[in-house]
Amino acid sequence: MTPDQKHTLSVLVPVYNEEQAVRPFLERLVPILAELGCHYEILFIDDGSQDATCAIIRLMREQNPCIKLIKLSRNFGKERALSAGLDYCTGDAVIPIDVDLQDPPELIGEFISKWREGYAVVYGVRRNRDSDSFLKRITASLFYRLFNTLSDIQMPRNAGDFRLIDRRVVEVLKTFPERNRFMKGLFTWVGFRQVGVPYTRPPRLHGKTSWNYWRLWNFALDGITGFTTLPLRLCGYFGLLVAALAFIYSFLLIIRTLMLGIDVPGYASLMVVVLFLGGVQMFTFGIFGEYLGRLYMEAKQRPVYLVEETSGFDSAVEVE
Ligand code: UDP
Ligand code: MG
Repeated sequence: MTPDQKHTLSVLVPVYNEEQAVRPFLERLVPILAELGCHYEILFIDDGSQDATCAIIRLMREQNPCIKLIKLSRNFGKERALSAGLDYCTGDAVIPIDVDLQDPPELIGEFISKWREGYAVVYGVRRNRDSDSFLKRITASLFYRLFNTLSDIQMPRNAGDFRLIDRRVVEVLKTFPERNRFMKGLFTWVGFRQVGVPYTRPPRLHGKTSWNYWRLWNFALDGITGFTTLPLRLCGYFGLLVAALAFIYSFLLIIRTLMLGIDVPGYASLMVVVLFLGGVQMFTFGIFGEYLGRLYMEAKQRPVYLVEETSGFDSAVEVE
């Protein structure tokens, strides 16, 4: 690929109640894309916004036909919105980006030069997490450590969805039938040549994040259960360990009873054993439940997302 060849760039922007953010985002992004000199499309995926986000995007589309809109029928979550974007985009390189300007569009140029060097995935890596709260930093760091220890893939730490993905990888991702779409994990799972580009992540420009701790916790569970079954196996090993300890303890009790006779007091030790085993059983059932629930949701084979309306696409896109 020579640098002067004309490529099409697809910028995927999931938006959920972002009426304040769309305009400043485009004001900063469009000149950067124009300067890069390639063809581009900006695909907004409206993830069921209840405010004027859609109306503003339609208005902006009148001024710039490269802006396109996919309106989902309700809020499906950012991961599924991104999946819709991947299904509809046509570019040779695809860039998912947040609308709140936390992912600096200035980095796109650097992404493209790495892509031209032959990398299939070029991801932004946050230099620091200064724009995050203390708790978020700690929990994020714990999550990455746990994820990378448990799963077979090594997800780069502090890399979000902001990245450039080559068409080859997009085509692979489109064939994934799963409903649990932990995109960061999937982007890593596919392999190919990948490289990180460091950047400083500024705070959100307008509005506030829609990711509270409960949502992040569920997101983390999706990530871990989606990429490893090791917790299930650990339950088995733990059960084996407890059974071995129980065996040793029973043996000691039998010897003691034979030698010293029946000893009635023992309420405390009995309670400790009963409660401990009850707790371990419920905990392991909880882990089973996490997997079973996800299996059930996958087995239903419901669509990943539903599109209510599109504008800017010539023909309907076949989506499974
Ligand atoms: N977003 C979305 N659907 C949702 C939540 C968020 O499409 O259910 C979009 C949101 O509009 C933004 C991006 O995902 O463009 C990142 O969201 P946010 O800034 O709230 O996340 P954070 O930066 O805090 O991780
Ligand atoms: Mg944000």
